[in-house]
Amino acid sequence: MTMSALGEPCVLLKLGEIVLKGKNRELFERRLIANIRDALQTVGVQVDVRKRHGVIAIFLPEGAAAEQAEAVAQRVADVPGLVWIHQAWRVAKDPDAVLKAGLELVGESEEAKRGARFAVRSRRRDKRFPLRSNELDRLVGGAINDEYGLPVDLKNPELTVSIEVDRDEVFVFTGGIPGQGGLPVGSSGRALVLMSGGIDSPVAAYRMMRRGLHVDFLHFSGIPFTTSESIYKAYALVRKLDRFQGKSRLWVVPFGKAQQSIRTSGQDRLAVIAQRRLMLKTAEEVAHRIRAAALITGDALGQVSSQTLANITAQDNAVELPILRPLVGWDKTEIMAEARRIGTLEISELPDEDCCSLLAPKRAETRAKIEDLKQIEKRLDAEELCVQLADSIQEYTL
Ligand code: ATP
Ligand code: MG
Repeated sequence: MTMSALGEPCVLLKLGEIVLKGKNRELFERRLIANIRDALQTVGVQVDVRKRHGVIAIFLPEGAAAEQAEAVAQRVADVPGLVWIHQAWRVAKDPDAVLKAGLELVGESEEAKRGARFAVRSRRRDKRFPLRSNELDRLVGGAINDEYGLPVDLKNPELTVSIEVDRDEVFVFTGGIPGQGGLPVGSSGRALVLMSGGIDSPVAAYRMMRRGLHVDFLHFSGIPFTTSESIYKAYALVRKLDRFQGKSRLWVVPFGKAQQSIRTSGQDRLAVIAQRRLMLKTAEEVAHRIRAAALITGDALGQVSSQTLANITAQDNAVELPILRPLVGWDKTEIMAEARRIGTLEISELPDEDCCSLLAPKRAETRAKIEDLKQIEKRLDAEELCVQLADSIQEYTL
């Protein structure tokens, strides 16, 4: 489909929190543009990603189809750091060209066919443009009203025609899709997610990617006493989450034998929390090896007995790295809604044999004492054990 008045298709991106950055803003923008370029490699469209004043524009090759712009827009909608993605038309810096593009865009829209109330919103990033934004609004709005008889509604329009006058061109678009928000992945550093096959940890991983962390994933499997199912689940979850950051790695620790020694060495009621500490110590060892500066878990305060305040304290005490718990204040229903939105819920809900099911005491301790846990760890020689466990990890690259 060729669009006479519409010029070239492109995709216009609005930045999120980056705009609040002062001196570092340029670094964040550079990171974001690199992430966008990486993400678009899978789309197979040759693109030109350009920084403009306060926005990023993705130009498609001359003659590119609207469908290709659509594919680009859908892909970048998963890249953290953007708040809005608009499929736009790039037209000449001339009021007449803008007017024609606005008319054509509205003429093709579903909203116009239903007689929708509309508004035109113009913005001049280049003040040398001959018309001021309210003049442009009136010019284009008046023409749309004449041509299609649509009513103007500036307060609550059903259809908004946006016109953005830039340095070299004018962007014209209607609608848009929301981005992920947050910060560009990598701008906050690297961290290691403790990734079960459950509902919470994938959501925790996503929330921290959105805060600019590039994450690796660490899964503890009950192997050789459980099947490999939990590994497949963890792998499927990592694949699902990879679209937000790229270059994801899953590390798997065969944890069954260590769990068995915990079971035989401690008080039954402390087994779960002792195991969690051993996971964290092992994770810390792995984190040092891959240069990750924090651990991430899916803990939510009070959700299960291992997540009481006392038990969270006992977990923090096991390691020196910070443990980030983005879901600490979330309800299960909120976590599930987010898991559904990011597409991990249906994988998490598949049945598996989690390694935690190997240690399910009749009554779990809700107020674990750190001294008692340290006793258990002495008997286990936990410091040595977690180095051995870290030595035995297997890497799965996507
Ligand atoms: P999730 O839904 O993430 O499994 P959960 O509600 O089942 O969480 P727990 O099983 O107590 O809660 O786990 C709390 C956190 O400990 C998890 O969110 C995860 O970060 C970590 N964790 C638990 N089991 C494992 C595992 N097998 N491998 C890696 N991390 C784990
Ligand atoms: Mg779990």
